[in-house]
Amino acid sequence: MARLVMKFGGTSVAGMDRIRNAARHVKREVDAGAQVAVVVSAMAGKTDELVALCRDASPHFDRREYDSVVASGEQVTAGLLAIALQSIGVAARSWQGWQIPILTTQTPGAARISGIDGERIVANLVARNEVAVIAGFQGLSKGTGRVTTLGRGGSDTSAVAVAAAIKADRCDIYTDVDGIYTTDPRVVPKARRLDRVAYEEMLEMASLGAKVMQVRSVELAMLKKVKTVVRSSFENPDSPRSGTLICDEEDIVEQQVVTGIAFSRDEAQITLRRVADRPGVAAAIFSPLAEAGINVDMIVQVASDDTVTTDITFTVGSGDFDRAKAILEKTKAQIGYAALQGAGGVAKVSAIGIGMRSHSGVAAIAFQALSEKGINIRAITTSEIKISVLIDTAYTELAVRTLHAIYGLDEA
Ligand code: ASP
Ligand code: MG
Repeated sequence: MARLVMKFGGTSVAGMDRIRNAARHVKREVDAGAQVAVVVSAMAGKTDELVALCRDASPHFDRREYDSVVASGEQVTAGLLAIALQSIGVAARSWQGWQIPILTTQTPGAARISGIDGERIVANLVARNEVAVIAGFQGLSKGTGRVTTLGRGGSDTSAVAVAAAIKADRCDIYTDVDGIYTTDPRVVPKARRLDRVAYEEMLEMASLGAKVMQVRSVELAMLKKVKTVVRSSFENPDSPRSGTLICDEEDIVEQQVVTGIAFSRDEAQITLRRVADRPGVAAAIFSPLAEAGINVDMIVQVASDDTVTTDITFTVGSGDFDRAKAILEKTKAQIGYAALQGAGGVAKVSAIGIGMRSHSGVAAIAFQALSEKGINIRAITTSEIKISVLIDTAYTELAVRTLHAIYGLDEA
């Protein structure tokens, strides 16, 4: 008997009609004989609304109370979906994070799952033959005994963690798109849906701007080898299409050199000029940023020729730009640099593919193509399976289209 986790995102449960539609997807699987655990998000927009209420209550709100407020969105959809299932003849019961329990670390607003009692969920699925509808995004801190939440987009991680805990055959992530595309189809109409994508590639795509799944959920799927499928809840529940399977690279037969082009327009570039070239300087720059929770990417240090000073460039999300600059200005004396230059309005465009490991010249093709379009590259970073370039935001679409075409990803 197949055992499945079905996760429904915010747009898939936004209102009773969509919840009823989600219930029909669940009924299809139950009728086919599967044991099903469902994980739900809050209705689209709900969490934002709850976050705004906390801010309104006090700009310096207590994060533990934030957790108890924002966790409520998922409680509502779990209960409503259980009712919708019951009303079409499917036995179902809702479960909140603390009832399972989904144990987490204690950091409010950004807790991590530390353990799920899968046996207990399974006992319920099997003994009662009941669909378990689990509220995503929330858990219980063992240390404090309080409700916690996992960070925005965290119900994807709840779903993958539940799938791993109950040893599900598959974790289906139902969303408003029918899979993972070679790039955003709104930018490149010729983008294609991928049948399969490797965990590593999906991880890069999610980290580099494709917003379909929370990055942490992909990490977890890769670690626990959870077969994960991204698919649309908007298709007819009686004749759904297959979506994109995220799987081991060995399970991908026809491997392309480049699988997808990801981009993020909300980047800012910071350059520190004439930084003292001595041990400990990089730590002096990046530790305070890390402590402030600022994510840094594309770090490039210029090889110094005078061995006295060097230049260091990196990117941060544009939302962190001002904070990052303020921190660096405050620590200027400790770091010791001559000037700080910042530029907003930059975008990161990346080509991703595990096939790059075994092909040479992949980067050169990108640089040539971008130069032919007159696109200036501000910084470059590469890894085994990706090339990222930093460019002016105005050229984002042109760059994405150019790379999509040059790597043969345009639909035939
Ligand atoms: N409702 C939460 C959020 O909006 C969790 C989720 O949807 O994954 O971030
Ligand atoms: Mg989501």
